[in-house]
Amino acid sequence: MKDITAKEFDVEVLKAGQVVLDFYSTECPPCEALASKFEDLSKLYGEDIKFLKIYRQGNRELAEKLGVKSSPTLMFFNNGKEIGDRLTGGIKRSDVIRNLNLMLKELRLKEINAKIKPSVSEYDVIILGAGPGGLTAGLYLCQSKINTVLVDIALPGGQVSTTHEVSNYPGFIEPQAGYLLSHNMSEQTKLCGTVYKVAVDVTKVDLLKKEIIIDEFETIKAKKIVIATGTTPNTTGAQGEKSLKGKGISYCATCDAKYFDGKEVVVIGGGNSAVEESDFISRFASKVTIVHQFDKFTANKKAQDKIFANPKMNFVFNSEPRAFIKEGDKMVTEIENLLTGKRQKLLSDGVFIFIGMKPNIELFKDSLQLDQWGYIKSDENMQTSVADIFAVGDVTSKKYRQITTAVADGTIAAMAIAKELN
Ligand SMILES: Cc1cc2nc3c(=O)[nH]c(=O)nc-3n(C[C@H](O)[C@H](O)[C@H](O)COP(=O)(O)OP(=O)(O)OC[C@H]3O[C@@H](n4cnc5c(N)ncnc54)[C@H](O)[C@@H]3O)c2cc1C
Repeated sequence: MKDITAKEFDVEVLKAGQVVLDFYSTECPPCEALASKFEDLSKLYGEDIKFLKIYRQGNRELAEKLGVKSSPTLMFFNNGKEIGDRLTGGIKRSDVIRNLNLMLKELRLKEINAKIKPSVSEYDVIILGAGPGGLTAGLYLCQSKINTVLVDIALPGGQVSTTHEVSNYPGFIEPQAGYLLSHNMSEQTKLCGTVYKVAVDVTKVDLLKKEIIIDEFETIKAKKIVIATGTTPNTTGAQGEKSLKGKGISYCATCDAKYFDGKEVVVIGGGNSAVEESDFISRFASKVTIVHQFDKFTANKKAQDKIFANPKMNFVFNSEPRAFIKEGDKMVTEIENLLTGKRQKLLSDGVFIFIGMKPNIELFKDSLQLDQWGYIKSDENMQTSVADIFAVGDVTSKKYRQITTAVADGTIAAMAIAKELN
């Protein structure tokens, strides 16, 4: 593995055979997350493929010429031609391997695969999920001198890192950009000494053995595990939803309703949260149009009575969204009437989607006691139904899911664990 400069690019990359080039920066958490994976892979593939690094800020002109806009960016070259995918952000080892394998013949791949020896590391505690709940547990455990590793399939920060502004986290007078709040939480925990394994695959979780298989390279064992994997909002699947998340489409009224003071809003859904949250949004918005797929809401009667008596509410039943389109500052929601097939466009300032959340429990759902909605049941110490397994934050069975409730859970679990381990 070698660091090069722009001057060497022609010789080292374009006139060489097979090359993988990492544009990195300093003070760049995703670059740090990639560094050890890149080094490990250079040992495995280094005889066949050249592993190069180039400092992006110091070689800005070349980066711009190649269209490299973020750090890290991994580029793969075969005889001077770029091949495969350009990888950026939280880069997983499996993504790098997929691209490296494009350069090698099958026989050679078999030889390389035969050389892979899984490493097994041991910690006191594994925390799965580096959102506010997991990061807080990591901070408290680390400050109690408990050897802890934080594992996340993405970069640290959880849902807060994708939230545009947070104004209800205590201690800050001004609203904080979500990415900044989560960055600060993550740096605080990292600085204490908690080990991070982020942007990794998590292939298997064995709660009884307290063992996590990251991939064929790495297994981690611990005395205790904290599950802090959060939730994922259900999506409508309508065109444009993914790209407009956080840019006109929101999944959290507590967080975003205040930005729609005197404005018009469309809400998708008809269950308890859609109806109750619509009522909350109407404290700010001048008009709320609820689009629901059935002819009646499924929310509780009291909440329904309240919104039917609310003059700001409008209702469109038997309809589903088909597309979300941004037009300047406005949002267009194209909906289809499921009885007639007729489509219409609703113009608004923003859209809220409340069609349920999914707890992220796929890897361990069969081993734990869950509530009727699939959230993990835990006691007052955040202990689950399985010995030595704790659960914190949004993935647990509870009524309110916020940053403050997740950090509270993380604190409780860490203090209970510290007491048990000490
Ligand atoms: C758009 C939006 C705006 C919000 N705004 C606010 C607000 O203003 N104020 C407020 O208090 N709350 C807000 N919330 C709610 C808040 O973000 C959550 O309550 C909080 O993030 C929950 O923290 P958590 O640690 O439980 O889970 P999360 O933040 O969801 O973090 C879970 C982490 O686990 C990781 N993970 C998932 N599966 C696995 C796995 N199998 N293995 C390893 N890691 C895994 C994820 O990558 C993620 O990093 C908002 C939520 C959304 C969606």
